[in-house]
Amino acid sequence: MPDVLLSVEGLTRRFDVSKPWLNRVIEREDRQFLTATADVSFDICKGETFALVGESGSGKSTIAKMIVGLLEPSAGQIRFDGKVMDFASGAAMRALRRRFQMIFQDPFASLNPRWRVGDIIAEPIHTFGLLRGAEVTREVGRLLDLVGLSAADAEKFPHEFSGGQRQRIAIARALSSRPEFIVCDEPTSALDVSVQAQILNLMRDLQDEFGLTYLLISHDLSVVRHMSNRIGVLYLGRLVEVAEAKRLFTEPQHPYTRMLLDAVPDLSLSGRRRTPVTGEIPNPINPPSGCAFHPRCPQVFEPCRHQTPMSTATATGQAACHLLTHDQKAESS
Ligand code: SF4
Repeated sequence: MPDVLLSVEGLTRRFDVSKPWLNRVIEREDRQFLTATADVSFDICKGETFALVGESGSGKSTIAKMIVGLLEPSAGQIRFDGKVMDFASGAAMRALRRRFQMIFQDPFASLNPRWRVGDIIAEPIHTFGLLRGAEVTREVGRLLDLVGLSAADAEKFPHEFSGGQRQRIAIARALSSRPEFIVCDEPTSALDVSVQAQILNLMRDLQDEFGLTYLLISHDLSVVRHMSNRIGVLYLGRLVEVAEAKRLFTEPQHPYTRMLLDAVPDLSLSGRRRTPVTGEIPNPINPPSGCAFHPRCPQVFEPCRHQTPMSTATATGQAACHLLTHDQKAESS
């Protein structure tokens, strides 16, 4: 069993979406909550790429923000290299923070436009006291070279670069604290298709060279298939399936995973019948009872409407669907 680097257990995040601007006291029972993620658990092993996929509003980015400490969980815990991340302890979080970084979706927004590229990349080096003086300049040049730019680019400003080059700068900055783990939140979705493959290949090369571990957040199944070892599928804040990447595409176990795959015309169906994509993702403030996917599921049956399915082991990983336990019971009787 490979070493687990990151472990997420029962991760839940609720947002109070009551309307305080109405200038009245909202009684506790009248408050409205949006559950962005509910009871999400998974492990990520050292050196692997674990991807989270799902439609917009599935909770992918909320999970990413909680893992890097930008958002505090309402319940559950995150362990990094065996240590529980203690959000209340600034010192403990600071010690861990050097070891994980995040690459954001939009390289136009994530780089300070008033700073020179060299200063942007050097900031984590100064923050964590890793190097001083001329060593910092040399390290910035090395990092720029590593991501396919040149040391001379350190003197330029972000607006002087294309989208793909800016994402390379963001990657150099993420690498500058010498992290072991990088959360990549839709790292190529703001880029031209022609540039996307170059950035993904760069990320893979860097992973091989430095033994990096990635959490990849994406709505793009082609990107996820190209990059991941294992994939977790989220629906309305819940993890409905986790599987080894290749097998998720050939043997999806959960009806929602099948629907997601069938929405992408050029993904192989491996002889399966298509599941038509139907319905809209429900309002997360008032989610459906039982299995939240039941209003859209072509295989819905009675227990789905009132019982939340538990995650169970499957041939390819794990999934939360009554069909799996129903079939198992039928087979064992
Ligand atoms: Fe469909 Fe029921 Fe499975 Fe939910 S639990 S995915 S509604 S069959």
